[in-house]
Amino acid sequence: MSAFQISSTLQSYMFSQGITWTLLAAKGKVAGPIDVCRQQLTVEVWPNVVYVRLEKNAIRRECPWGVSTFISYKDYLEHAITEAFTKATGIKTDRISVNYFKVQSATDPKRKHSLMLEKHGISCSCMRYQWLDHRIWCEAPHLYKLIKENEILQGQTPCHHAAAVLKWLDLKNFADYFQEWPTIQGQIINEEDYEDDEDYEDDEDDEDDEDDEDDEDDEDDEDDSEFYG
Ligand SMILES: [Zn+2]
Repeated sequence: MSAFQISSTLQSYMFSQGITWTLLAAKGKVAGPIDVCRQQLTVEVWPNVVYVRLEKNAIRRECPWGVSTFISYKDYLEHAITEAFTKATGIKTDRISVNYFKVQSATDPKRKHSLMLEKHGISCSCMRYQWLDHRIWCEAPHLYKLIKENEILQGQTPCHHAAAVLKWLDLKNFADYFQEWPTIQGQIINEEDYEDDEDYEDDEDDEDDEDDEDDEDDEDDEDDSEFYG
C-alpha cells in the first residue's frame, strides 16, 4: 500500500488486534481466544477499509485455518458505539452544573473525568476522547466522515463517559442531544444569569483539571445540582 498510515494510538483505540478478533469471530472467521494468534494476526488500516490477515496457526485446535479478508470502517465504528453504550451502564455520573458533569473512570474508580455539554457534542477530558477528537479528522478522514454521518453519533466522538452523560440526560442517542441543544443552551444561559444575579461563588476554578487526578472537592459541588433537578 501507499504512504497512508495512522498512529499506533489511533489504531489501538479503533482498530486494535482485540477489536479485530471480536469482529472476525462475529463473522464466523475465527474461534476461541486470540492469545496464541497475536503473532500471526496482521491488521493493516488502509484509507477506506481495513485489511486483515491471519496466518495459518498449526498449534491451535479451535481455529487452525488462515484468514485473508477486508473489514469495513463501519464495522469498527459500530463496535466502538456498542462498546461505549455498554460500558456507560452503571458508571457514576454527577451533574455539577447545567452543562458540567463528572463521570467516574471505569479503570480507576478514584478518578473522574470532566464533561461539558457543548453545541458540537459532549466533550470529555479522557485520553481516548481527546485523542480521537483531535486526530481522527486528519489521520483517518474516512472514519471522520462516517462519524459525522452515523445516525447515533452525528459527529460525536465515541466515548463511554459521554454516553453515560447522555443516559443521565435520558436521551437515546446524540441525534436527540443535538435536537435538545437549544433547550440545553437556554438552561445554560439561565444558569449564567442566576450566577450573575446572586454573585454566585466561583466554583469554576477547576477548568484546568484536564488531567484531573484530585477531585476531593467534587463532593461539595453536588448540592448545586439540586437547583437544576
Ligand atoms: Zn471520555
